[in-house]
Amino acid sequence: RHAGELHLQLRRRLFFSHRDLDWILDMYEAGRKFVLYTGRGPSGPVHIGHLVPWIFTKYLQDAFDAKLYFQMTDDEKFLVNPDFTLDKTRRLAYDNALDVIAVGFDAKKTKIIMDVEDADIIYKIAIRVAKKITFSTIRAVFGLNESSNIGIIFFPAVQAVPCFIESELTGENVPCLIPAAIDQDPYWRVTRDVAPKLGYLKPAQIHCKFLPGLGKGGKMSASLPETCIFTTDSPEDVDRKIWNAFTGGRPTVKEQKMHGGDPTICPIYYYDHYLFEDDDRKIKEIYMKCRSGDLLCGEHKTMLSEKIKKFLKEHQKRREKAKDLLDEFLFKNR
Ligand code: SF4
Repeated sequence: RHAGELHLQLRRRLFFSHRDLDWILDMYEAGRKFVLYTGRGPSGPVHIGHLVPWIFTKYLQDAFDAKLYFQMTDDEKFLVNPDFTLDKTRRLAYDNALDVIAVGFDAKKTKIIMDVEDADIIYKIAIRVAKKITFSTIRAVFGLNESSNIGIIFFPAVQAVPCFIESELTGENVPCLIPAAIDQDPYWRVTRDVAPKLGYLKPAQIHCKFLPGLGKGGKMSASLPETCIFTTDSPEDVDRKIWNAFTGGRPTVKEQKMHGGDPTICPIYYYDHYLFEDDDRKIKEIYMKCRSGDLLCGEHKTMLSEKIKKFLKEHQKRREKAKDLLDEFLFKNR
């Protein structure tokens, strides 16, 4: 009702579950604003799978005129990767921030927190959160053991901070909604347990699934570069990766025309479904034509490649402009 038309990622159930979203919306209806919080662990370049929750978060920001705290967990990536230096995670965080800005967030309502650089505010809140969480909870929730470094044991307290930062800064208890991938849920469950003990409201969540990779099964992952589309990929990269992608098609054109393909196992179909084909009538048509054998994989791959290249061309332009906007977005310059 408040957001107007349902976003494609909600209609197509990419965002598929929530905790307390109804409560957040009831509060909003009663005139109480909420803040949004999402983030990124800067471990490498950004791919289009990473953009999924950010695109949805921008939709929420526009629909609810909400402030966004975006956390770059450069500290966590430093702690979990034996080969990473702090300098490397800082550089990646700044590079990834360009993609965040390129999504189109409102500079006046968006603050990017760099965990290490913003340690002053982070630590003041994290230490109070940490005091309420036992090692046995963290060990059980995140599967840590005696060999885990003590930084990573403390880190869930750091990831909790943006849920409460607006309340700390304003002195009012401000509700927080977190749009993020489902794998982050354990952090929010721990945070929700702690919140009332510190006098804060429990953060609400809305969860998305992962975008599949271009290979057979599995999520899009930067560790398999040929199965993901990076935001900085060239048109040639896109053509090559899409052309080599796994599909739900048959081994030969003759068989495909005779028996049809299977869009339910096909990443080419899912990219259209979740990101690139907003028209419900057209996506249904793609599905039916695949099933009936009237659409061939080569044809579909060419169509999708064109859409992705168009999308990336615009994203890359905004990414370039983001270099001049970065200072406005940084929390430290608030
Ligand atoms: S026609 Fe399209 S949706 Fe069907 S299997 Fe081939 S690439 Fe996938």
